[in-house]
Amino acid sequence: MPAYDFTRRTRRQSDPDVVVVGAGAAGLAAARALTGHGLTVQVLETTGRIGGRMATREVDGFRLDHGSHLLNTAFPELRRRLDLDRLDLRPLAPGVLVHSGGRRYRAGDPQLTTARQAATRTPFGSPLDKARLGSWLSRLAATPASRLLARPETTAARALTERGLPARTVDGVLRPLLGALLSDPALGTSSRVADLVLRSYARGRLCLPAGGIAAVPAQLAAALPAGTVRLGVRVTSIAADGVETANHGRIGAQAVVIATDAPSAAELMPGLRLPAFHPVTTYYHAADRTPMNEPVLLLEGDRTGSGPPLVSHSLVLSELHPSYAPAGQALIATTVLGRRGFDSGGAAGLEPAVRARLAELYGTSTTGWEFLSVRHVPDAVPAMPPPHNFRRPVRVLAGLYVCGDHRDTSSVQGALVSGRRAADAVLRDLGLPVAGREAEVAA
Ligand SMILES: Cc1cc2nc3c(=O)[nH]c(=O)nc-3n(C[C@H](O)[C@H](O)[C@H](O)COP(=O)(O)OP(=O)(O)OC[C@H]3O[C@@H](n4cnc5c(N)ncnc54)[C@H](O)[C@@H]3O)c2cc1C
Repeated sequence: MPAYDFTRRTRRQSDPDVVVVGAGAAGLAAARALTGHGLTVQVLETTGRIGGRMATREVDGFRLDHGSHLLNTAFPELRRRLDLDRLDLRPLAPGVLVHSGGRRYRAGDPQLTTARQAATRTPFGSPLDKARLGSWLSRLAATPASRLLARPETTAARALTERGLPARTVDGVLRPLLGALLSDPALGTSSRVADLVLRSYARGRLCLPAGGIAAVPAQLAAALPAGTVRLGVRVTSIAADGVETANHGRIGAQAVVIATDAPSAAELMPGLRLPAFHPVTTYYHAADRTPMNEPVLLLEGDRTGSGPPLVSHSLVLSELHPSYAPAGQALIATTVLGRRGFDSGGAAGLEPAVRARLAELYGTSTTGWEFLSVRHVPDAVPAMPPPHNFRRPVRVLAGLYVCGDHRDTSSVQGALVSGRRAADAVLRDLGLPVAGREAEVAA
């Protein structure tokens, strides 16, 4: 029995059953779940492309994401909603390389045996400390998410000091790793989110699609009936029975799902919580020779003063898949986190300093590197300070729903889960069967 009588609403024949506002991962996931139940859906997207924050551009033969992303094969919703084989996921090398004191050290490979962990030479603790980190990560991988969510919640920075690991291991490996994975160098993120992120890290492999991050929304969109997504349509106001658009008039519907980024959602629905954001700045360089012969995440382990380091992490994307760069060229993506004083030159003004630091990180001259591009995204990743609500309500009222990474966790996983939750709420209100169980919490 439907919870609300939708039949009372007046609709034109061309109106869809459901309007979804925004063609990012959340909106596309919601649309896919709804069309899968036979509903007609229109996804209205203000820009000229799908994918939202997950975008990729080809520039002179280089494949540049709109800000460097990392996926994890352990994201449960990614596995559930996408055909990972067709996505052609390319795994990063296991573990990370941490740059510290002018040298690079391999660390944090949960797949290494405890004995091999202990045998690796790093300044991040005694052999016993390294073995401890290995078994700690293995234990985390095996811990049910529900147990991690039951732990007392504080900031990630604080929790790291309370996990019984030596300070050198925490400062040398876990802080830079978590800072990179959370886009939060100060580690003010909820410790529960941090535990789940490290659990995913320990269970899966960091990876990227060979075709760039845009391959994820592209696959979601490809599964929708033709004509479902309408580009260049900006929604200006919403109601439970339809939306007004800037140039395409009113579109009526039985239900409206707002699947925009948080600031746009708050504009459409004043009063909606607006989170703070972690900015992400990505520098792309081309080199004639690869500075690293494997696709490994290179972390900056040295801190200058009390603030976070200039560079958070760097990765040679052309080592992940050759199609990221033209033949004979290497593509290097480097991430700077936080609100940097970019001076008058903007993010590009900082490039010489970033390039100089990269020379030290990779242990090679970078003077011949070509600066291809920089992407500065101020509202990249919604902050998740404690207490973090992993399942913010997606149903505003019967007929009106909201999803996006700001409703779950600030990641592709969170965006996909929120889209499905919103679709489930629509289906319930329409009296249609909702398949499956509650999505597993992960980050
Ligand atoms: C630089 C960067 C790095 C990141 N790194 C990672 C990472 O390593 N791992 C990870 O998991 N996640 C990462 N993320 C986060 C991840 O990209 C997001 O969590 C995810 O893409 C959010 O999807 P979404 O659908 O919720 O929102 P969005 O992708 O923001 O989609 C919202 C869509 O709504 C549209 N829209 C807005 N207003 C309107 C309107 N009025 N009318 C019509 N359409 C509208 C927008 O144009 C947009 O297309 C990163 C993000 C950035 C920017």
